[in-house]
Amino acid sequence: MAAKLSPMMERYREVKAENPGAILLFRMGDFYELFHEDAQNAARVLGLTLTSRDKSSENPIPMAGFPYHQLDNYLQKLIHAGFRAAICDQVEDPKKAKGLVRREVTRVITPGTLTDDGLLDPRISNFIACVAPAKSSIGLAWLELSTGRFLVSEIEPALLQDELARIKPAECLVPEHSVSEDDLPVARVDLGGPVLTGRPAWCFSKDESRRLLHEHFGTKTLEGFDVEDNSPAVTAAGALLEYIRDTQKSALLHITKLECYRRQRHMVIDEATRRSLELTHTMRDGGREQSLLGVIDETCTPMGARLLADWLSSPLTDIAQISERLDAVEEMVSNLTLRDDLRDLLKGMYDLQRLTSRVATGRCSPRDLSCLASTLGQLPKLRAKLAERSAKRLQTLEERVDLCPEVRQAISDAIIDEPPISVADGGVVRPGFNAKLDELRDLAKGGKQWIASYQAQESERTGISNLKIGFNKVFGYYLEVTGAHLSKVPEDYIRKQTLKNQERYITPELKEYEDKVLRAEDQSKALEQEIFSKLKEEVAEHVARLLSTAEALAEIDVLVGLGTLAAAAGYCRPEITAEPVLDIREGRHPVLDRLMSAGEFVPNDIRLGVDGDSAGRDSSGPEQAKQDASESGAANNPNGRVQIITGPNMAGKSTYIRQAALITVMAQMGSFVPASEARIGIADRVFARVGASDELGKGQSTFMVEMTETARILNSATDRSVVILDEIGRGTSTYDGISLAWSITEHLHDDTQCRTMFATHYHELTDLTQTLKHAANWHVAVQENNEDVIFLHRVIEGAAGRSYGIHVARLAGVPRDVTDRAATILESLEAQHVNDDGRPALPQRETTRQIKQQLSLFELPEDPLLDEIRNMKVDDMTPREAMDELYRLRQELTARKT
Ligand code: ADP
Repeated sequence: MAAKLSPMMERYREVKAENPGAILLFRMGDFYELFHEDAQNAARVLGLTLTSRDKSSENPIPMAGFPYHQLDNYLQKLIHAGFRAAICDQVEDPKKAKGLVRREVTRVITPGTLTDDGLLDPRISNFIACVAPAKSSIGLAWLELSTGRFLVSEIEPALLQDELARIKPAECLVPEHSVSEDDLPVARVDLGGPVLTGRPAWCFSKDESRRLLHEHFGTKTLEGFDVEDNSPAVTAAGALLEYIRDTQKSALLHITKLECYRRQRHMVIDEATRRSLELTHTMRDGGREQSLLGVIDETCTPMGARLLADWLSSPLTDIAQISERLDAVEEMVSNLTLRDDLRDLLKGMYDLQRLTSRVATGRCSPRDLSCLASTLGQLPKLRAKLAERSAKRLQTLEERVDLCPEVRQAISDAIIDEPPISVADGGVVRPGFNAKLDELRDLAKGGKQWIASYQAQESERTGISNLKIGFNKVFGYYLEVTGAHLSKVPEDYIRKQTLKNQERYITPELKEYEDKVLRAEDQSKALEQEIFSKLKEEVAEHVARLLSTAEALAEIDVLVGLGTLAAAAGYCRPEITAEPVLDIREGRHPVLDRLMSAGEFVPNDIRLGVDGDSAGRDSSGPEQAKQDASESGAANNPNGRVQIITGPNMAGKSTYIRQAALITVMAQMGSFVPASEARIGIADRVFARVGASDELGKGQSTFMVEMTETARILNSATDRSVVILDEIGRGTSTYDGISLAWSITEHLHDDTQCRTMFATHYHELTDLTQTLKHAANWHVAVQENNEDVIFLHRVIEGAAGRSYGIHVARLAGVPRDVTDRAATILESLEAQHVNDDGRPALPQRETTRQIKQQLSLFELPEDPLLDEIRNMKVDDMTPREAMDELYRLRQELTARKT
């Protein structure tokens, strides 16, 4: 028979059963303890010592623990290791408890539901997403619990990966048993994807979800949020809210609205493009610092930093909206004093979004409230600075900054200027705020003063010169006498403790005052708790106003930051147009430009689709385009919408084409761009197939990945897209590669008709401009000094003369005899594969109709001999005659051959 569990372990077992899948941190006194498998996991992940409870019994229980004040530290490690943690606290005062202290799970912490400052990176949003598959679409909801931002969208199933790559949630809820990591490769934790949490099917009930959301927002319909009640997005949002309620067990006052995210209003950037452009994370180490986001971030507050990431991840497509942002940035660029003043004010502000959210969930500390009040204190000056600005967006934001004076007043009236983090030890409430509290504090103080004077009085009475009064939690106040004076101890002293070389005593008088002091202290702490709770509630009533102010502050910070960046790095305001052009003068790669020392990066022009002809779509289709090209003499059209950029490896081709994509993204997010002038035609999508990435881990060959991504581009790009391709076809044999690259470019030119930049070291591809009207050859200039090649990183019109691969090999230290031999082989290969112009001969592109026509044209006419055979009267012939005729036919055929 199993041994009977102690009441404490019985409670542990119950709580553990109520929270499956979570590591249970069970508060016992001043420690959080873990048992059984949890203890073993924690010992491994947290480095705790594994001990056991009931050591002497037959089945000792594995156990590990840590002091309660180290909770944040250990939680962080557990969450990073992918665990969920349920925190079971003592929910009644142990002193007042009758029997076992009541313990309840106060919250469950999962990677997507972090709200504690210590567990979050202030500059990075921490989303939890929920995927609700419906018949033909997917409902998607995502929430940042630490700020209350709650968004929904309904998308086609094929777009799920890209959306998750954009949102980058830390955790993703999916219907249990129906969606797994295999369906969502982006969710692979080892690739930095979210932890998948399965939820039971009943959580994804449409009706229940709708009911829950109506109840939460106090509405009868969600249409006020621009969300249709019937959308699967509602199911996702409901299932998400249900999970949050389940894990948080606290008020969610800060989730005040649903935002509907509409893809059509934003530039679409797929997962592969996002990754290869390194918008928010680098490919090498996943870090933020050297990504585009890292180098353009000049924000002063964490709220601004998070919003900037949001803007960069979802650039806009509406010219008016972009221009509004650009106007504001321009005003910041041109007004240095305003910019500096605003930056100074913003630097003095705290994260109002996360502070407010902690107020809303009832988890704020006295220090949080004091930070909140001090942030509010900066607002009048900020508003004054923004008043009468000419940019419309700045005016709107100024109006949205709500000074919330009563909130600030309430906090600063009640709380001292620099309060401690915890209210439990008191010392939080400002003297003079509450008469009862002042009285209790005086009582405690008076008692302490009496005790201090008692020490002097007793020292004199007993003649013990070094008599000291001390305090500890076990005995309270005591009189301490060292060995040399023990003989002088009076009879009325009651010995309490004997230590080496000293004794501790109490007296009835001392205990009487101690009682007074402790009682007053206890009461005053309890009263402080009460005052603080009331204050929290009072502030919580203003959560919606505070959050909307925080949103405005975040945007002001982003705009000031973009202005600072533009001024510091010498950016220009891009002209945004509806025409499909990219006309960039002296453009620079935003990341390399900032990482290299000043003047080191070589600027380059980009002129895509500025030939006028390219602006409109060729309605006549590929055949007409080809005909036009041949009529126009198939010249190199340097301003065409398709650019083929040749040059040796390491010359700067991919830098150049990435620069084009990055500048487009920056312009559409509302930022100035690294160039002297720029005219950017709105791109509905940007595609980048650049550089080898680390997909081998996903079990696909590099070439397969390259082709999958290329297929996606060819299938989804429109004439409004910008496509940059780097060395497509490199993963296969040279001829395969060149042929594929050739036909892909033709397709993008003739059929898609989008702005395209194709970087390649195959100079064979430069022949494309002979047949493609809107294609242009550009190349990276190199300087030859005898056998040395110097890369100038300057991109100029025309095709590269040669590929310099052998020179590069020589530079890289490949032995001389190998490079000499390669040069000989190259010569012989080129001799075999060139046409009269000295270029490799490649066929012209033909349409299917042309190919059919040609087939009928070239059908061979029937041989006249066949007719003779057909007309032979074989039945009337003798065998001899037949033989003779056969000989004659053969002779005729033989004669024809010679
Ligand atoms: P490619 O694609 O032709 O092989 P990359 O674009 O990768 O070459 O460039 C190789 C290196 O050359 C880059 O890492 C960078 O250090 C340098 N580089 C490229 N373009 C420039 C430029 N415009 N100015 C200065 N350095 C450059």
